[in-house]
Amino acid sequence: MAMQEFKSESKRLLDMMINSIYTHKEIFMRELISNANDALDKLYYKSLSDENISFESDKFYIRISADKERRLLTISDTGIGMDKDELCENLGTIAKSGSLAFKNENELKDDVDIIGQFGVGFYAAFMVADHVSVLSKKFGSDEAYLWHSSGADGFEITEAKKAEAGTEITLSIKKNTDDENYDEFLEEYRIKSLIKKYSDYIKYPIKMLTTKKKLKEGSENEYEDYKEDETLNSMIPIWKKSKSELSKEDYNNYYKERFFDFEDPIKTIHTSAEGLISYNALMYIPSHAPYDYYTKEYKKGLALYSNGVLIMDKCEDLLPDYFGFVRGLVDSSDLSLNISREILQHDRQLKTIASNIKKKIKSELELMLKNDRKNYEKLYGAFSRPLKFGIYDNFGAEKDFLKDLIMFYSSSEKKNVTLSEYVSRMGEGQKYIYYATGENTDAIDRLPQTESVREAGYEILYLTEDVDEFALKILASYDDKEFKSVSSSDLGIENDDNSKAENDTKEQNKDLFEFLKKSLEAKVSDVKASARLKSHPVCISSAGELSLEMEKVLNAMPTDQKVKAERVLEINIAHPIFEKLKSLYENDRDTLSKYADVLYNSALLIEGLSIEDPVAFSNNLCDIIK
Ligand code: ADP
Repeated sequence: MAMQEFKSESKRLLDMMINSIYTHKEIFMRELISNANDALDKLYYKSLSDENISFESDKFYIRISADKERRLLTISDTGIGMDKDELCENLGTIAKSGSLAFKNENELKDDVDIIGQFGVGFYAAFMVADHVSVLSKKFGSDEAYLWHSSGADGFEITEAKKAEAGTEITLSIKKNTDDENYDEFLEEYRIKSLIKKYSDYIKYPIKMLTTKKKLKEGSENEYEDYKEDETLNSMIPIWKKSKSELSKEDYNNYYKERFFDFEDPIKTIHTSAEGLISYNALMYIPSHAPYDYYTKEYKKGLALYSNGVLIMDKCEDLLPDYFGFVRGLVDSSDLSLNISREILQHDRQLKTIASNIKKKIKSELELMLKNDRKNYEKLYGAFSRPLKFGIYDNFGAEKDFLKDLIMFYSSSEKKNVTLSEYVSRMGEGQKYIYYATGENTDAIDRLPQTESVREAGYEILYLTEDVDEFALKILASYDDKEFKSVSSSDLGIENDDNSKAENDTKEQNKDLFEFLKKSLEAKVSDVKASARLKSHPVCISSAGELSLEMEKVLNAMPTDQKVKAERVLEINIAHPIFEKLKSLYENDRDTLSKYADVLYNSALLIEGLSIEDPVAFSNNLCDIIK
């Protein structure tokens, strides 16, 4: 039979295969094993409906053999096999699913990585072989055929002989080049590790004659080699076993081995779904953040399997960013192996799985929060940031979904509390959920503004991470209760005595307050008489939407635009300092200006904000002390 040409699209893919970068070449094994698996499946299903076919499980297997001298690697299966037309049609055109993605020639050249991520089928063989032959006998037929090809030029099909039905693929492994080592694909250890890595859970045995050592007869310390048939794959993936079969140790060991962690996970989630779309998922929540978790290098995602065959190591689309710390895998028989990244992103089934998984993770976290608080606290210690960021992200698209998973340190409970716990403790008269922001809980404890709210008997949530206040701003309220910063000028704490005292004092000292406001003109929008402060002489509060804490966070970002919160200086009218200010107003307004500057700046320091002009501050302070 004359040489036939490949269909043009296939030819392009073939070129790409042959020239692909080295690290991807090893996936040829996964592809060929996966085809063998499918061929065995087809025969197996046939045996279910056809009583003429007897199903003997030991007749269904895949075999690998390597001949180092002749550089031949053979992968054979006892599956359904192909007749002449099928050989021509199936191996002359690339698979439909894959071909879609490769339509565009430019894409072919640019996105070589696609090979590493997705199945490209049979042609992957040409990444490591310069000649490939396929000997096949269709089940139920007497004839066998040999397909063979040296790559882009085309292929030939000739009549051949083969005893049993099935397919035998022989690769003439390429010679080593300066920078690529093909020899290793003929090495036992390498073949074994490839099977473990990509095809461990193929449900048919993958056999190979492997070299073992035994004591030489009559000797006590001399060994000799012998060959023994070995099944290289474990066949049943842990996630396909039933929960009752598995111990916590099994799960943990698998986690540590698979995800290179030295600590046990804090939580294991093993779940399966059947129905419209069926899948198994095995997920773990690590007990600590991986060292690179907060860097660009960290890639979220779950491994994706199609019926036990690895499609990709990290499918990002399966996890939202806020659950990006979850490790694990999903196996679905409803996904095709030969699927490109672009298609996968829009795959409806994948989206359904992702959405189910998201809900599952959330409900497991909620259960943990309810029943295993200690571990939830630990988890939250490691991963509170992504959760809180998830609330803020995307203009709050997921805020309601996540709001019950977050916690803040409480002034009254002295530990982390949820928003619902806070609200459940709110008394009749309490209008708002109060919060305060600062470096750490001690610093917040010392804030003048928290003092009065605490003394009024209200619980305060302490926000110590930069994302915290942004998350609360997006949430705006919880259970119809608005969030309120203790630094805001209107706290909604009804205290008639206080407001009367404040108003009276301001009225009586109108000129003093005007003077102070004028001398701090560029810095504050107002100077207030305050009766809510206890031990501190002054504090800074913010008047607008933007709080002081948010100002700090936003200004720490690497942009040119700097923002400024609207500041109000509050003066404690019960403090001796206030008397001093009054007397200075009468006697020495020059010094009063300096006092104003020093008080304003010390209030900034208490807030953890920096002083704009430290030299002026220091000079003023010295002048006063003098
Ligand atoms: P895909 O597996 O996605 O269809 P491939 O290029 O890997 O794409 O294979 C093309 C077709 O060739 C398969 O769909 C199958 O029909 C046939 N085929 C490949 N390998 C075998 C095999 N070992 N036994 C039987 N048929 C096979």
